[in-house]
Amino acid sequence: LNRRLAEFGTTIFAEMSALAASTGSINLGQGFPDTDGPEEIREAAVRALRDGRGNQYPPGPGVPELRMAVAAHQERRYGLSFDPDTEVLVTAGATEAIAATLLALVEPGDEVVALEPYYDSYAACVAMAGGTRVPVTLRPHEETRDGVTRRRFRLDLDELRDAVTDRTRLLLINTPHNPTGTVLTRAELTEIAALAVERDLLVVTDEVYEHLVFDGAEHVPLATLPGMRGRTVTIGSAGKSYSFTGWKVGWVTAAPALVSAVRAAKQFLTYVASGPFQYAVAEALTLPDTYFEEFGADMLAKRNLLVAGLAKAGFGVFEPAGTYFVTTDIRPLGESDGFAFCRALPERAGVVAIPNAVFYDHREAGAPFVRFAFCKRASVLEEAVERLGTLA
Ligand code: PMP
Ligand code: GLN
Repeated sequence: LNRRLAEFGTTIFAEMSALAASTGSINLGQGFPDTDGPEEIREAAVRALRDGRGNQYPPGPGVPELRMAVAAHQERRYGLSFDPDTEVLVTAGATEAIAATLLALVEPGDEVVALEPYYDSYAACVAMAGGTRVPVTLRPHEETRDGVTRRRFRLDLDELRDAVTDRTRLLLINTPHNPTGTVLTRAELTEIAALAVERDLLVVTDEVYEHLVFDGAEHVPLATLPGMRGRTVTIGSAGKSYSFTGWKVGWVTAAPALVSAVRAAKQFLTYVASGPFQYAVAEALTLPDTYFEEFGADMLAKRNLLVAGLAKAGFGVFEPAGTYFVTTDIRPLGESDGFAFCRALPERAGVVAIPNAVFYDHREAGAPFVRFAFCKRASVLEEAVERLGTLA
């Protein structure tokens, strides 16, 4: 393994899913739903396979039907207009979109400012591009609004501002945020946008959880804010929005020069992927908005079930405003090392979770936090909660 990748061994998701399988534990680690997406969209994939659509290399930028559907979705949901031919690129999941974007835009020695904890592939892709990551730590914080006190991981905008130097190439933002469940507010994003404009920075924004926001929280795409349309690369994924994580269909929307830069890298990663599934996802994107409402309501019920169960089991809980993850604090259980806790949890309780420390450069800042996924059937969550109830 070369020096750039030496610190990245097996991903925590592979390690923990293997641990779940070998111990027969309930897997609340890796984030994938245990119920597949809509039947009619699965049928659409079958039709595409059978009718020979996408069984051979699809066009490099993605099939026109999907590019048009992505553009129409951005217009309908956010009032953002993108040209499907020059401003939309289909990728092999958001994972490839992240990789291609960073490989295309980052020069060796450039600094990439990212929120910490960060999704694991950000660090590896910045490293592969020869860049330097500059993490800005989200910090636990209590907020009382309308008489309700909530704990949330919050971005300190002064810290973000201080992290930007003359060598900063881009800001890498993720909202709704994995693993904390934080949804950046319009006010926070407006300040991020102002900073990007002031320092003339590109912004890459990973919005794969755009449709998973709860309790009236609003997902604000960065590209909608003043000065951002031309300097923002937005990343989306059918894996999260339609519960087809195995299909690996994602996309990038950005100005033409940025999309063609990302495409230049992407064509030497996979060239193309997921032919027949691209047609099916194009159909998914044209489902009425009631699909997102029902999906969101279902996930909200699951969130509430897991949040209540974890609190009852003695965890400190950060109720997420978005994503399908709950970050917990294990110190109330008399624990302080999330790694040790997660490695012992299958034995102790028959449940698998993810230690948030893997998403930090400042490992000690993440040490007491552990992430649980709630994108599972209610019966599975109930069983998990019952098992975790024996810990205290
Ligand atoms: N970004 C974030 C924040 C994620 O959580 C994930 C994985 N769920 C991805 C990107 C990767 O998405 P995909 O499965 O579409 O590659
Ligand atoms: N994004 C998923 C998570 O955060 C996992 C994806 C993966 O296994 N790389 O759990």
